[in-house]
Amino acid sequence: MPEPYLCPVCRDNRTEFLQIYKLAREIRKDAETGALLYVADEWETVTRDRRLDLEVRCRLCGHTAPEADFTRAFRRDLAQGRRPGRRA
Ligand SMILES: [Zn+2]
Repeated sequence: MPEPYLCPVCRDNRTEFLQIYKLAREIRKDAETGALLYVADEWETVTRDRRLDLEVRCRLCGHTAPEADFTRAFRRDLAQGRRPGRRA
């Protein structure tokens, strides 16, 4: 179920974001020279509890944080009685 976002830093942006997810691949390095001894062919998406480990970037101020920070900021703002669209 989708949840609204609010940027916890600029506290103004509720609509313009980038969603970012991480890719990982297994590597093995030589402990002394740093040379790559093995690099997996494939990049894999990083998941947490079998969900994509999403980060969100505010397109107004550039703040980047886990998605939960943006949904939490929205809920906290709602609890303080503000309405979407109203500007401080
Ligand atoms: Zn922002």
